[in-house]
Formats: sequence, C-alpha cells, structure tokens
Amino acid sequence: MAFEEIIGQKRVLSILTHGVESGRLPHALLFHGPEGVGKLAVALAMAKVQFCQQDTLYCNNCRDCQRVTHLSHPDLKIIFPAKKNYEIEYAKNIIDSIARDPYNYLKSWHNERILIGMIREEIKRWVSMKSFEKGGRVIILIDAHRFKEEAANSLLKIIEEPPEGVRIFLLTSRPDLILPTIISRCQQIRFDPIPWQDVKKALIEREKITEDKAGAVARMSFGSYRRALELLGEDISEKKDLMLDVLRKALLSDLDILTFTEDLVSGQDTLRIIEILELMSVWFRDAMIMEKLNFETDIDEKLIFSDRKETLEKFINSFEPINYEKILNQIGTAITMINSNAAVNLVILQLIYELKGQLRRKTNV
Ligand SMILES: [Zn+2]
Repeated sequence: MAFEEIIGQKRVLSILTHGVESGRLPHALLFHGPEGVGKLAVALAMAKVQFCQQDTLYCNNCRDCQRVTHLSHPDLKIIFPAKKNYEIEYAKNIIDSIARDPYNYLKSWHNERILIGMIREEIKRWVSMKSFEKGGRVIILIDAHRFKEEAANSLLKIIEEPPEGVRIFLLTSRPDLILPTIISRCQQIRFDPIPWQDVKKALIEREKITEDKAGAVARMSFGSYRRALELLGEDISEKKDLMLDVLRKALLSDLDILTFTEDLVSGQDTLRIIEILELMSVWFRDAMIMEKLNFETDIDEKLIFSDRKETLEKFINSFEPINYEKILNQIGTAITMINSNAAVNLVILQLIYELKGQLRRKTNV
C-alpha cells in the first residue's frame, strides 16, 4: 500500500497525492522541516510513485518499488554533502544506512558541501542516455542548504530548466540558508514534527518496544523519529537525574547564578545542554498534567517522570501557583536560540533568571 512506511505527515501526503492525481506535481520540490520527521522517507516514496507501473501512486511490491526501497533503481540518485574526491566507502556507508532506515541514516558530513558536479553529471547522463527504464529520473538532495554560492547558481539553472522527466527533491532543515531564487522555483512543502501518538505507534510496530516505554520516548522525541530512536539507545534515567540536579541547583540553592551557569555550560557540549532543556520542559509539562489531573488514578501512564512522582509533587508544592505555559515558552525560546547559535551561557543565564522570577517559593516550606 502506498505510504504505509511513512510515519504521520498526513497533511504532506495529502498535498502530494493531490499533486500526483491532478498531474500537477512540479519538477522541483523543496521539503523543509526539522530533522528526523521523514523528509527523506517521503521523497523515496515519491520516487516509487514515479517509477511504479502497477498503481496510480505505488504498490510498494513490484520490482520498481523494491528497487527504490533497496536504493538500487538505476534512475534514482541520492546526493548528499561530500568532500571532493571522497572515497567510495563514504558514499556506500551512507547509502546502505538509508536503505536500512531512511528515518535514521548516517550523516557523516560536517563541513562538507553538496558537489554541484554530481548533479550536473546526473543531468548530463540523463540527457545523453535518456533513462534506463520508463518513468523518468529522480534526484534527491539531502541537506540541500549545504551549497557554495556558485554551485547554488548552477543548481538554480538546472531547476529553472530541468530536462523532461527529471524530478528534483530538495530536503532541508534550514530553508533560510537556501537562495530565495531557488526556493521560489520549487513547490515548498513544510514538514511538521510528527505527532507523538504516531511516533509511539511506530515505535511499538517497528521497534517492538512496550507501550509504556514507547509513550515516554515518543513524548520526549519532540516529533522526530530519529530522535526517538536515539533515545531508545540511551539511559533516560541518568539524564533525568542530571536535569533534576541542574534544576535544583538553579532554583533552590544559594549558588551564584553566574558561576553556576559558567560551570554548567563549560562542562557540557551544546547538544547535551539542549537535552537538559528538553527534559526540563518535559518536567514542567508533567508537573502541569499532575496538577490538572490530581484526582485521576491512572495518571502514571500520562507522565514521563512517573518514576519520580513524589519529587514532582514536592516540587509543585514548594512554589506558589506556577504559570506553566509561560515557563514552557521560555524554555522553548531558549532551545530555539541555542539551535540558532546564540551564546549558550547567555541564553542559560537569562533562562535561569526568568525561571527564578516565575517560580516563587512558598514561604512556609
Ligand atoms: Zn510498485
């Protein structure tokens, strides 16, 4: 069945289905949205739509569909950032990992860029040989913002006048880094974080984990299936301890905030700091649920910190009524700022000041 391997993204799939059925799917599409939400999985599904001879969309069963799944279709090309003269092994490892799971593939590049030569070559081959088979040719660019300016101009030309039958998918989490002239020539399709219920269902079905754990991990994944898989392999309990320690020190101790922030930031890398903040927002969300549903008996399965219920309760009771929404917003803003390269120590410092201002301790506790 078409799109059975896609997690969530119903809105996106309905836009694309409509485009296919009305015959108005453009030659260049820009898929943008956060990491791990299925942009590549959907692009590969669209390659099946292009090649499958069995179905209006695709059957996921025929030789063509299978060849897309295994990334062995001769008319499908996936392009990703690489060094000039990269080793074949480099590409092979990435391609193998995509074939295993397009939600959790290897991203081996750091400062590497997309080599425009690779795209030109593809186009040239297409024009000179036509396709090996019927059904056109699909080119998928992963991290399409990783271009040098001159290469981007080259890409622009290709997108402006693609040879007939070529369909290009540009995938990115940073559309702000792509030339506006390129963006305006693509149909833009926004990918949202996957609803946690869909992440949970996928974790149970694909990874065969228990419903409880799937629920907790899904909530912490922030809509990224890639992140959910990463979390599965980690010890969440240890992270919870770390976050609680940070929260305790930041809010309840007499430590000098400036020194505390310096220590925290210098001891952890940025990713770890973001993780702490993410867990912190889960903590406040749990506290909010707990306060709202105090009377419910089956609250455990709604909480991620269900193993720390007593601490949660103590925490809530130590403060005057908490404005959860405001706090969740402040933490969210801090995460966004760090993600867009703001100075981590300043962001954390400001957040702690804000939290301290929001959370007033009860005088009798
Ligand atoms: Zn098929």
